[in-house]
Amino acid sequence: MADVATMTSRIDRLRASLDEPLLVTNRTNVFYLVGFKSSNAALHVEHDRVRLFTDFRYREQAAAVEGADVVEVERSLTRGIAKHVSGRVGFEAATMTYAEWDALRAAGLELVPRTGAVEKLRAVKEDEELTRIREACEITDRVYAALAEERFVGRPETDLAWRMEQLFHEQGADSLSFPLVVGSGPTGALPHGRAGDRVIAPNTTVVIDAGCYVEGYASDCTRTFATGELPDDLARAYDVCSRAQQAGLDATRAGVSGSDADAASRAVVAEGGWGELYGHGMGHGVGILVHEAPVLRPESQDVLEPGNVVTVEPGIYSPGRFGIRIEDLVAVTDDGNDVLTSFTKELVTVR
Ligand code: ZN
Ligand code: ZN
Repeated sequence: MADVATMTSRIDRLRASLDEPLLVTNRTNVFYLVGFKSSNAALHVEHDRVRLFTDFRYREQAAAVEGADVVEVERSLTRGIAKHVSGRVGFEAATMTYAEWDALRAAGLELVPRTGAVEKLRAVKEDEELTRIREACEITDRVYAALAEERFVGRPETDLAWRMEQLFHEQGADSLSFPLVVGSGPTGALPHGRAGDRVIAPNTTVVIDAGCYVEGYASDCTRTFATGELPDDLARAYDVCSRAQQAGLDATRAGVSGSDADAASRAVVAEGGWGELYGHGMGHGVGILVHEAPVLRPESQDVLEPGNVVTVEPGIYSPGRFGIRIEDLVAVTDDGNDVLTSFTKELVTVR
């Protein structure tokens, strides 16, 4: 957890961006602002105080929170908030449910919808956050190196996935940052296909997407392996994907929009003739969550800035045949970027 000075500075920066007090009901945002993790909590950030609403189950953890006055309420946070908050207040429009909104409105609050206030802060990492992400990436690199020594062919995807999970544990990860993806042959054509019972065949690609948590911060990395010599079109698609990934990396700089960075990688895939088969965005921010701001995709409104940590992950997916994706995690710096994942992107042939 971050120290008190860090939390205070986060609250100060948040306040500087607010037109009215903000009700923070997104629990990841609550955690970021005061270091309090629970299934039932909200913050009311005013210009001269911060109140943390939670229930009896979290009494002890809440007592340890510094920089916020704890208000213990009944299990229904909404009812509790309605009793203690009044007047004009911003709320997180992407998180609050309609029922919650309706209950607060009925209690007389003047609710102003706000989006992204805390997410914008989270998108720019402090040094200590970067240190944790770097460490998560180093563990991930070691896991990929160890995995490349494993036998792939003849093994069910689920078996390899389980082995990889063990490797993360052995290398010191706190946990996986998401259920890992092992997609061989046709399974690899499903960008979010997990691992299934398919037995890994020779002479195809295996997409492996995995990451871990270190002290609350995530890594995210994809490599595509070859199980023996690849048919010509697969080898060519790998080459195109790898050039697209490099173009994406080159474009991922401060001042560049998420849509322009995305376009740089998309142009290479299109030139290679696979444009139709690259159906997702180029990347996303990573931090406390494995998907957060900013986003790099065609419709993105975000502009990259130093301190952003984003993935660069173009892919080519041929339905029923194969998938290829190469993903690095990248920190945007003042004068370019720092690639945090370093396992080789040369095509690695496994047994
Ligand atoms: Zn990934
Ligand atoms: Zn990703």
